[in-house]
Amino acid sequence: FTTEAGLYTASDQIVILSPDNVDSVLVNSTAALVVEFYASWCGHCIAFSPEWKRLARDIKEWKPAVDLAAIDCANEDNRPICSRFGVKGYPTLKFFHAYSKPDSKGQGFREGPRDVRGLRHKIIEKMETHEEPWPPACPPLETASKAEIDNFFETNGVEHLALIFETSNSYVGREVTLDLLQYENIAVRRVLRTEEALVAKLGVTDFPSCYLYYPSGNFTRLHVQNEARTFYTYALQRLPGVLRAGNPPPVTSDLLKNTTEDQWRPFNRSGVYMADLESTLHYSLRLELAAHPVIKGEALSALQRYISVLAKYFPGRPVVRNLLKSVDTWLKGQNDTELSYSSLRDALDNTAEVPDAALPDGVRWVGCQGSKPHFRRYPCGMWILFHVLTVQAEEAAGKDPQEVLQAMRSYVHSFFGCRPCATHFENMVKDSMSHVGTLSTAMLWLWSRHNHVNNRLAGALSEDPHFPKIQWPSPELCPSCHGVKNGEHTWNQEELLTFLRSHFSSEHLLSDYLE
Ligand code: FAD
Repeated sequence: FTTEAGLYTASDQIVILSPDNVDSVLVNSTAALVVEFYASWCGHCIAFSPEWKRLARDIKEWKPAVDLAAIDCANEDNRPICSRFGVKGYPTLKFFHAYSKPDSKGQGFREGPRDVRGLRHKIIEKMETHEEPWPPACPPLETASKAEIDNFFETNGVEHLALIFETSNSYVGREVTLDLLQYENIAVRRVLRTEEALVAKLGVTDFPSCYLYYPSGNFTRLHVQNEARTFYTYALQRLPGVLRAGNPPPVTSDLLKNTTEDQWRPFNRSGVYMADLESTLHYSLRLELAAHPVIKGEALSALQRYISVLAKYFPGRPVVRNLLKSVDTWLKGQNDTELSYSSLRDALDNTAEVPDAALPDGVRWVGCQGSKPHFRRYPCGMWILFHVLTVQAEEAAGKDPQEVLQAMRSYVHSFFGCRPCATHFENMVKDSMSHVGTLSTAMLWLWSRHNHVNNRLAGALSEDPHFPKIQWPSPELCPSCHGVKNGEHTWNQEELLTFLRSHFSSEHLLSDYLE
C-alpha cells in the first residue's frame, strides 16, 4: 500500500503546495486561497488536519471563489517557501486574496475557533471584505434590498431567485450563495429581517427561511425539512432547470434514445437490483480479473478474501451462491503460491461437476444504467455490491467486522481497473479502516467513505448529469437520517443504520426493470 509524507494527499481536495506550484497557485489566482503552513511532526498540526480536510469537503463547492491549500514546512524542499511567507510557528493559516501579487505575504487569520463552522464563517468574512479585484466566480455576498430585488430580473437572466431571510448574525444566506455558485440558472441573495418592506411583502415570519421569487413577482416558500444551510442547498441544487455550470443539460430524450448498448429502461431509482449485482460479478470475475494471467502474493490473498466474502454473503439466486461456494472451496484447496487466471476461469465456467451452479453470463445493468455508455455501470455495481455485503455480513451474524471491508480494500488495490481510483481509495481508507470494530460501524464506514468519494467527484467529467453525485441518501429518500444541531446539518447514525439495513437487505433486492 502507498504511503505519503505530509499530512495531506491528492484525495483530500486540498491543494498541496511545493516549490513547483507555489507561484502558479498563489500568485494572480482567480480564486482566493487559505493556506495552512504546517509541520508534519507537530502534534497540533496532526490534530488539526482532520478538521482542515473536513472543511475542504464542506466548502468544496466554493472552490472557484476560494480554495484551501497546505504546505509541509518540515519538508526541506519547502523550507524557503515557509520562510518567504514569514511563517515561524505551526499551524499558521494565511488568507491570500485573488490576484495576489508575487510579493504578497498573505493576511493572518485572526485567532478564533478552529472548527469547520468557525473557519467557514471566518472565510466568509474574509471574502465579504475582499479587496478589488473581486474573484470573478464569487457571487455578491452583501444583503439585498427591496429595490434590488424589484429590479433583479431586469439585469439577471436566471430562472430562479432564492431569497434567504435571516438575521444579521446568521451566515446561512452567504453559505448557500456560495454553495450554489457553480450552478447555473439560479441566484441566491440574503435578505435581512430588517428589510421590512420585503419581509412584509412576502409575509416572512421565520428567520432563516427561503423563498423562491419569480420574474412575474410571484413567490413561494421553499419547503425543507429543516431551516438550515444543507437542506436549502439540497433543495435548490435540484430545482428544475438548475444545472451545474459546464454540464450539458440532461436531456430526457437521451434516456429514451438508444445511446447505450441496450435500450434505456425505466427503473425505480430508490431500489437496489439483483441484475446490477450479478452484472458486477460477471464483469469483475470474467473481465477485470482476466487482465491478471498469473495471480500471486498480495493479489492472491486479495482474490481469496473477495471470493470468500462472496461465497459467504452474496445474497443471490441459489445457482449463483452454489457456484460461488464451489469456487471458494476450490480456491481454498489450491496450495500453490500462484494461480493462473485460466484455472480460475475453468472453475468459474466448468460447472459440470457441481449441480445447479452457474455464474451469470453477460451484463444487464438496471439501477446502474447510465445515460451514456461511459457513465455508471460497473463502478456503480461495485459500490452497491460492497454495501450489500456489509449489510449481509450483519444479517448473517458474521464474526469479523473488518472482513468485507478488507476484501473490498484489497480487491480494489490489486484488481480494480481504474488505477487512479484505487490510489485515491487507498489514501482515503488507510487511516480510518482499522478503527472499524463492529459490523454496524462497517456499514456506516463504507457509507461515509462513499460519500467522501461522491463529494470529490461531484461535477467531475465522470458524473452522469442524470445522476448527480450527492451526499446520499437525500432528505427525500431518508428524512430521518438528517437532522440539525446548533444550526449545522447532522447525520443521525441510528436512523442511517436502520435505513442502510433496509435499503441493502436481501428482502428488498429488486429483480427487474419497471414495466
Ligand atoms: P455511485 O457513486 O457509483 O453509487 C452507486 C449507487 O449507490 C448510487 O446510485 C446510490 O444509489 C448509492 N449510493 C450513493 N452514495 C452512497 C453512499 N454514500 N452509501 C451507500 N450508497 C450510496 N471515479 C472517479 O472518477 N474517480 C475516482 O477516484 C473514483 N474512485 C472510485 C473508487 C471506488 C472504490 C469505486 C467503487 C468507484 C470509484 N469511482 C471513481 C467511480 C465513482 O465512484 C462512481 O462509481 C461512478 O462515477 C458511477 O457513479 P454513480 O452515479 O453510478 O454512483
